[in-house]
Amino acid sequence: FVDRKNSYGPNIEIESEWTPFKASVDAFMGADTTWTAYPIVGGENLETDKVREVNSPYDHSLNVGKVYWSNTEIVNKAIDTADAAFPAWSKTPATDRAACLERMAELMEENYAELVAICHREAGKTIQDSIDEVREAVDFCNYYAQQVRQNFAAPKVFTNFQGKTQQSQLTGRGVFACISPWNFPLAIFTGQVVAALAAGNAVVCKAAEQTSLIAFRAVQMLHEAGIPKDVLHFLPGNGATVGAPMTQHKRIAGLAFTGSTGTAQLINRTLASRGVAPVPVIAETGGQNAMLVDSTSLPEQVVRDAVRSAFASAGQRCSALRVLFVQADIADRVIPMIAGAMKEQTVGLPYLHSTDVGPVIDEKAQKMLLDHIEVMKKEGRLIAQAELPEWAEKGTFVAPTAFEISSIDQLKDEKFGPIMHVVRYKAKDLDKIIDTINNSGFGLTMGVHSRNETTCAHIANRARVGNLYVNRDQVGAVVGVQPFGGQGLSGTGPKAGGPHYLPRFAKEQLV
Ligand code: GLU
Repeated sequence: FVDRKNSYGPNIEIESEWTPFKASVDAFMGADTTWTAYPIVGGENLETDKVREVNSPYDHSLNVGKVYWSNTEIVNKAIDTADAAFPAWSKTPATDRAACLERMAELMEENYAELVAICHREAGKTIQDSIDEVREAVDFCNYYAQQVRQNFAAPKVFTNFQGKTQQSQLTGRGVFACISPWNFPLAIFTGQVVAALAAGNAVVCKAAEQTSLIAFRAVQMLHEAGIPKDVLHFLPGNGATVGAPMTQHKRIAGLAFTGSTGTAQLINRTLASRGVAPVPVIAETGGQNAMLVDSTSLPEQVVRDAVRSAFASAGQRCSALRVLFVQADIADRVIPMIAGAMKEQTVGLPYLHSTDVGPVIDEKAQKMLLDHIEVMKKEGRLIAQAELPEWAEKGTFVAPTAFEISSIDQLKDEKFGPIMHVVRYKAKDLDKIIDTINNSGFGLTMGVHSRNETTCAHIANRARVGNLYVNRDQVGAVVGVQPFGGQGLSGTGPKAGGPHYLPRFAKEQLV
């Protein structure tokens, strides 16, 4: 699967003169380029009286466009239209549905520069993160197309020794709702929607209110790629205007959600209270991700991987490192090295290649993180804080910051941003540490750094996490190679970008 059309993907050579790629992105980057998103129902853009202006997280004076929000009436109309379109779509040959996904992948390649520009300006992602974002969305389309061809195109046949033949066929469930986050505004949005469509469902989708512009473009492209207009509907808005009426509607037959654990619980309760048949909820939620570093590890590699895991994408990944556990014997060596590496982190404008860390998504996130830094200054020991540029108040920047604390129990919930906590542990307490991490209830990612294979295997065996990474960073799961998703408070599974994902969007009939 890695053998994809990857002529200018994540491995792009980024040099000081990165033309012609830069030139094509620049064409969309000017201050006067703006985008508009509308609810799309039955292929029609609907203008409503509630409009959200979008300003860039890195410069609030930079308008990126506006989004017309949906309302209950529009949500209900979209679901009813999708419901009526479902039977025909579910009977469309799976190979035709796969072909739509492959065409979508091509369209994203063709519109690469525009998507990178929107992602960068609307979500404040660095250029490299924006490139990765589009690549991941392309990968999801090609991977799920391949999966649907393998598992949905023809029934699986079972025979037994009595000579009887059984056929099992996967088909769509009905209208699937997809609710996606702002931190992967194209990749996760597209991944959820195309999985639901490929499995044979009609879809109503809501992007995060902060990042609806790029999602709107993705839906336009999906229609262009051949997804019928009555099958896929786009509903921008927030939890109250869209999420609530969507989850209260009796015709929703399944829901995919990525976001906070609390919202996933609310969605579950709302769907269950409708008094109709229970439906699957595929939730990918938060984490309190740890990395365990023992005294056999290579400090230089630990520092590189910990810094990347905690601060890349401004720490705004569910997979990001929040608590680094360092064996006490090497802590006095590793911690100052981390402090040194953090001083080298450049917080800056996301379109400059010198930038390591761009802005956080909005003022609410910034305030939550700054409040946490204040609390930690009292309750922990400041290890290091990167510098903010003078003009930082133009946007919502938070300096990468690391604190030493005494226990993971000091952290009540996930702080979604560039803050790392460091805990020293004694070798004899390793199991206790793993159990404390397990007891947080979260189980998304874990990193392990050790040159002792038995230790790595032991930790992998005892830790209750979805994705455990050994001697590397713990972010950036690759579609089809590192299926991604957690356990417990971190999500229901199945893993996105893995072979078990699509069947969860389907029902199975045996004849
Ligand atoms: N799949 C992403 C990663 O491996 C994280 C997804 C998320 O933040 O929701 O870094």
